Amino acid sequence: MEKLPFERPTIQKISAGIPSKHGISRKLEPLSHIDGLSIKSLIDDYGSPLFILSESSIRKTYKEAYRAFSSRYPNVQFAWSYKTNYLNAVCNVFHQEGAWAEVVSGFEYDKAAANGVSGESIIFNGPDKSKEDLRKAIQNSSLIHIDHFDELYEIIHLSREVEERPKVAIRINMDVGVYPKWDRFGFNFENGEAWDALNRIKASKNLDLIGLHTHIGTYMMTTEAYKIAASKLAQLAVSLEKKHGHVIQYIDMGGGFASKNTLRGAYYPGTDTTPSFDDFAEAITSALMSSEIKPDHLPMLILETGRALIDDAGYLAGTVLANKRLSDGRRATIIDTGVNLLFTAFWYEHDIRPIEPISDQMEDTTIYGPLCMNIDVIRGNVMFPLLKKGDHYVVRRVGAYNTTQWMQFINLRPQIVMLDMKGKAHLVRKGETLDTINSQEITPEHLQNFNL
Ligand SMILES: *Cc1c(COP(=O)(O)O)cnc(C)c1O
Repeated sequence: MEKLPFERPTIQKISAGIPSKHGISRKLEPLSHIDGLSIKSLIDDYGSPLFILSESSIRKTYKEAYRAFSSRYPNVQFAWSYKTNYLNAVCNVFHQEGAWAEVVSGFEYDKAAANGVSGESIIFNGPDKSKEDLRKAIQNSSLIHIDHFDELYEIIHLSREVEERPKVAIRINMDVGVYPKWDRFGFNFENGEAWDALNRIKASKNLDLIGLHTHIGTYMMTTEAYKIAASKLAQLAVSLEKKHGHVIQYIDMGGGFASKNTLRGAYYPGTDTTPSFDDFAEAITSALMSSEIKPDHLPMLILETGRALIDDAGYLAGTVLANKRLSDGRRATIIDTGVNLLFTAFWYEHDIRPIEPISDQMEDTTIYGPLCMNIDVIRGNVMFPLLKKGDHYVVRRVGAYNTTQWMQFINLRPQIVMLDMKGKAHLVRKGETLDTINSQEITPEHLQNFNL
């Protein structure tokens, strides 16, 4: 008979079946399938850990967001925030749905262009645009959102060399009642800097001032902040028309809508507290519609929503490596996903579940990643069933900021698959190998040999 693995017994208070004071069920329902495909079979086919993206979830969420805004406002345009997830397959789903590209570096700009996005449909944000980046963006008629005066002067300078007229907007930061304020990007509204920048652009003659942009923060849980921001941008639009007779083409409200993930330390789960797209749309569009902007001059409304559009579509599945007891008797489960792959574990209490029914017996557990680093904690404290070595888990809502912010550290980055509308899996990014890493390295001749 096969010898069963031995686990040293400990005495634990059984809390299964007792409702918590909020009545939230403590039972963790397993998640066995995504879009009809078994997670187990995906792991068998593509390895562990594995990022899994759902195309149907991306399209569904996008349509929901688009409907929320377009049913309330006549002219709406989304631009996909590349840094949130710039896998080409993901970007192209958004582009097929009609979203432009929103990029914050020369690298992202080139990635969008290589995906086939035309220059006029690329919004170029961020504080880091080289002279060459700017020249390219001007020649391609891209929408350049100026971050600071040095950039403005550079563009004015370039506008004398390049034939095309630069199409520019400015990024504006402001007090929207959420602190600490995000005031490091763009020109400030309250101290008059934004108005100053707009007047300088108008005075420069060579630039086409086409829009006003703000991006007030990220994971914003208040719709009121967007209402304030939209009113302030509308005020600037009105002042431009009054003083210069200049009508801007668009107001870009940036991104920042919270996804349904739960922030670390939050009392209620994100699924209960996150405003809906309808809530955000209502706040923004009502502020614009009730502003002093003339009805026939209402600008296009651009949204650069990132995490709220993609978080739900991403899953990370993997395997339990081991269980152990910490010195205080607490259970620790070690999984094959660390903060190297799941960067957002620093911010979120990620929803992690078994992929098949395990016992109803739950226990306070710390879930560690595989790295040799004390900070490698996926969940500090979670009621979790007793998964064994070799059992599989899946983490939900990991579509945003993980496969862009992940790091190659101690381990290689794994494969990524996307499930198409029919539930068929496609490999969309190959896992790294030792060759991937070594192909970037050059070992000097005199260091190539040693005798041990
Ligand atoms: C990051 C970023 C976004 C997307 O933000 P989310 O919080 O993911 O919605 C949009 N616009 C700009 C300028 C950004 O830097």
